[in-house]
Amino acid sequence: MAARSEEFYSGVQKTLRSAMGKSIGPLLKRWRYTQSSDFAEIALSPSTARFLIRFGWLDAGDDDAQRLESQRKLLLDISRSSGDAPGIVAAWLELFAAGEYGALEKGICADEPQCGLCGMKEKCRYLATGGTDERASGNSLAEKLIRTADIPTESLAASDLIAFLVIGEKCGAADYARAEAALKTFGGLRGILDAKADALRGIGYDSSARARLAALSRLCSRWAAEQTERGKIFSKGQDFYDHFHLRLRDFKKEVFYVTLHDQKNALIGEEKVSEGSLTETLVHPREVFALAVTKRAASIAIIHNHPSGDPEPSTNDKTITKRLDSAATLMGIRLLDHVIIGDGRFTSFVEKGLLR
Ligand code: SF4
Repeated sequence: MAARSEEFYSGVQKTLRSAMGKSIGPLLKRWRYTQSSDFAEIALSPSTARFLIRFGWLDAGDDDAQRLESQRKLLLDISRSSGDAPGIVAAWLELFAAGEYGALEKGICADEPQCGLCGMKEKCRYLATGGTDERASGNSLAEKLIRTADIPTESLAASDLIAFLVIGEKCGAADYARAEAALKTFGGLRGILDAKADALRGIGYDSSARARLAALSRLCSRWAAEQTERGKIFSKGQDFYDHFHLRLRDFKKEVFYVTLHDQKNALIGEEKVSEGSLTETLVHPREVFALAVTKRAASIAIIHNHPSGDPEPSTNDKTITKRLDSAATLMGIRLLDHVIIGDGRFTSFVEKGLLR
């Protein structure tokens, strides 16, 4: 690491000297850390952390403690090999990543990195992995989304889209890095949209970002609920699963739906009948069949979720199904199926032989 960090530090210094065209020494003396010889006192700014992530010294998925430890090791190493005090080393890095004092309006590796000026581009992970100046700009992503109507979804990184939605057109590499870390921390998009406010705060999302993520989560639920597919023929358990799983899979309590069908099993309507643990009183045949009669349905199906993720029917589920099936026979309305939605799987009472 020593030789690599020495080369890195010298690249930072050379690039800054050439970009500023004047002596940097007096400027550095005004930096707050330059008197510091204690690594524990130095907390590098988020801009500098982003620069170190881009270059490859830090990992975007590291938590704060790991990041501090890696920064401390890097400063120590550079300080030993260069003979500069840790505070001076930190000042060079901060100036490179953020710019300061009006002498360098913005850093070399700032929101929109000026890779063309950078003396370390051959060793930079950001460039080696396809990062470009363009990626660091939310503006260019906005243009891409608006102008390229047929842009394939898979060509857009989830982290870029999250950063764009949370920050807007001003989003840059730090925001992409934070979104990447969030995806890793919460185990994917679903995890982020389901994350608690405290957990999002813990990875650096402020109240405005958290509000936007909450709005996005609600919007996704609404979108899933709008997939009504009226007229679609439902002939097997998979049809019900496809229709309901996106909106039911993340509910923390049981939610019970009835679908209404015509003679050909085509969907003519659906309604939420109850929310909460299923009991015979919560799902009363009177309410279920009142809907069917109003809409002149020839058949109905009942669908509910198991928040545990396991779609195995409980005794209560079987009792309710029997009761509704008996009522359906009396009414001359067919009970097509009872489908339980779990996490990525389902149970169809008909396919399991629990309903004729
Ligand atoms: S090459 Fe570009 S992204 Fe990499 S460290 Fe230099 S300025 Fe930053």
